[in-house]
Amino acid sequence: MRTIGHFIGGKHVEGTSGRFADVFNPATGEVQAKVALATDAEMAAAVANAAAAQPKWAATNPQRRARVMMKFVELLNRDMDKLAEALSREHGKTLPDAKGDVIRGLEVAEFCIGAPHLLKGEFTEGAGPGIDMYSMRQPLGVVAGITPFNFPAMIPMWKFCPAIACGNAFILKPSERDPSVPIMLAELMIEAGLPAGVLNVVNGDKSAVDAILDDETIQAVGFVGSTPIAQYVYARATASGKRAQCFGGAKNHMIIMPDADMDQAADALIGAGYGAAGERCMAVSVAVPVGASTADALIAKLAPKVEALKIGPYTAGDDVDFGPLVTKEALARVKGLVDQGVKEGATLVVDGRGFKMQGYENGYFMGGCLFDNVTRDMDIYKTEIFGPVLSVVRAETYEEALELPMSHEYGNGTAIFTRDGDTARDFASRINIGMVGINVPIPVPLAYHTFGGWKRSGFGDLNQHGPDGFRFYTRTKTVTSRWPSGLKDGAEFSIPTMK
Ligand code: NAD
Repeated sequence: MRTIGHFIGGKHVEGTSGRFADVFNPATGEVQAKVALATDAEMAAAVANAAAAQPKWAATNPQRRARVMMKFVELLNRDMDKLAEALSREHGKTLPDAKGDVIRGLEVAEFCIGAPHLLKGEFTEGAGPGIDMYSMRQPLGVVAGITPFNFPAMIPMWKFCPAIACGNAFILKPSERDPSVPIMLAELMIEAGLPAGVLNVVNGDKSAVDAILDDETIQAVGFVGSTPIAQYVYARATASGKRAQCFGGAKNHMIIMPDADMDQAADALIGAGYGAAGERCMAVSVAVPVGASTADALIAKLAPKVEALKIGPYTAGDDVDFGPLVTKEALARVKGLVDQGVKEGATLVVDGRGFKMQGYENGYFMGGCLFDNVTRDMDIYKTEIFGPVLSVVRAETYEEALELPMSHEYGNGTAIFTRDGDTARDFASRINIGMVGINVPIPVPLAYHTFGGWKRSGFGDLNQHGPDGFRFYTRTKTVTSRWPSGLKDGAEFSIPTMK
C-alpha cells in the first residue's frame, strides 16, 4: 500500500505518528493509499524549518520571488495532465474539471507574478516641515493554510501563492481525503526555485489543525472548509493572537425572473447545480423561479436534463458530466437528506438515489435529484447538501424571491437570470451576499479580483486572492522621517498637528 507522508524542508518526510487515514478512489471504493496524520512534534519541526527559511526569503527582492511564481506557472502547464489525473483519482471529478481546478490556482500564481508592483508602498514627500512619510508592506513570517477536499489544487494555491510571493514561509495542511496534489504542487515550487523550507505540506486531521492554531510562531491562518470548522478555527486562531480568515459553507440561490431566457436558465442550473456532483461551495443548490408559470416552465425544462445527466468515473473520458461523491459517508449523508426532503413533503421530481454505475458498484455514485415545492422550513432548504441535488423554491414576486437568500444564514454566492437591467441592478445592490452573478450562475471572481462570502460563509476580514490576498499576508509599517537639519531645538510637549 502506497503511503503519503509530509513535505518538509524541501523533501518528502515519512510520518512518524503511526496514525494514517485511508485515501479512497471514490470511483471504485478501494483504498488506494494511506496518508500520515502528523503529530504535534512533526508540526513543530515543519514550523521550525519554515521559520529558519523565512528571513532569507523575505530579503530576496520581490522580482526574484516573482520569477519563482513565473517558473511555477510554466511547470504547472508542463505537468497539467499528470496533476489532473492525480486529482481526479483521489477526488473523483472529471478530468476537464480537474484541469479547471489546477488552472484556477495557476491563475492566482500568474497574478502573484505582479508581486513587485503590488508590494510597492506609499510615500508622501514633505508631510511636515522636512518630514517625509512612507508605508511599506512587510511579510508576517510563518503563516498557514488549512484547505478542503473539494478543490485540492486551486484552494491551496489561493493560499500559498500570495503568502509566498509576499515573502512569508508557509505551512499547508491540506484535506486528508485527497493529499497527493498538494504535495506535487510543493515539489513543483521547489523545482521552480523556491528555497527549501519556504513551503511545507503537513498532512493530518484535527490534531494537526489544533497544533497550527496553538503554535506561537505561526502569525496567520487562512482556512476554507465547512462552516462549523471555519468558526472553530477562527475562534481558536484569533484567541492565540493570529490573524485569521476562515471561509465556510454555502447555500447559493439563483433567481429566475419571468423575462429570463428559460433555456439559458435551465442550462445554467444544470451545470451549476450538478457539476462536480454538487461538491462546490459555489454550486447553485436552490432555484427560485418567480411566478407559477415560470416555475412550471423551468421544471419542464429541467426534469429531462437531470434525467439525462451522464455520470461516470473520470477514466470514462470527456463524455461524463460528473463523477462520484468523495466518500461513502458523503454519499450516505446526501441520500439521507434526500430521504428527509421526501419525508418533509417536497416533490421529488427526479430521484437519483437508486443510480448504480455498472462495473463500479462499490463507487460512491448517485444520480441527480430534483426537488420542487421546497419550503424554507425544510432541512433540505436550510442545510448545505453538497451533492447533486437541486431544490426549487417557488416565489410569487421578486421581493419574495429576494427575501430567501437575504434571510438565509449563508452568503457565499447568488445569481439572478433576467433581461431587465433595473431588476438586475436592484438585486446586485441590495443582496447581502459576497459574490453575485447576473445571468452568470457561478460568479467565481477571477484571480485579480477577490473571493469571499458574507454572513456564515466567511469569518474574519479581507477576501482571498487578488489585492486582498496581499493585504492579508502582509502588515503595514509606516515610517515618519526627518533629517537633523529639520530638527528644532527643545522638547515639544503637545501633539504635533497640521493646524
Ligand atoms: P471540512 O470542514 O470537513 O474540512 C476542511 C479542513 O478542516 C480539512 O483540512 C480538514 O482536515 C479540517 N478539519 C476537519 N474537521 C476538523 C475538526 N473537527 N477540527 C479541525 N479541523 C478539521 O470541509 P470539507 O468537507 O473538506 O470541504 C467541504 C466544505 O468546504 C463545504 O462546506 C464547502 O462549502 C466548503 N468550501 C468553502 C469554500 C469557500 O471559499 N467558502 C470553498 C470550498 C469549499
